[in-house]
Amino acid sequence: MLTNMSDIKQLALKNIKKPIKKVKHQDLTRFNPENSIFKSICPVCKKGILLVGRDQMTFDILTNDVCVLCGQRFIYIDIEKGHIDLVYKEA
Ligand SMILES: [Zn+2]
Repeated sequence: MLTNMSDIKQLALKNIKKPIKKVKHQDLTRFNPENSIFKSICPVCKKGILLVGRDQMTFDILTNDVCVLCGQRFIYIDIEKGHIDLVYKEA
């Protein structure tokens, strides 16, 4: 998680221009499992959080995401598009 200023300075948006990574949401470590099934720890910087976005009009869950700290972009390859709830694709 966001621990201190030096982490933030060191990591902030460091990966924003890196290629988009494909990940499985199911394989990521949840930031706070009791609190949210959505929020995950960024597998790249290990400090930032992936929040899972929603479409502003339909509120459907988006399959693309970005780390709030390092700026690494991700595509969730296991999330079904077009749902309000988190729905995983059949493996
Ligand atoms: Zn990150």
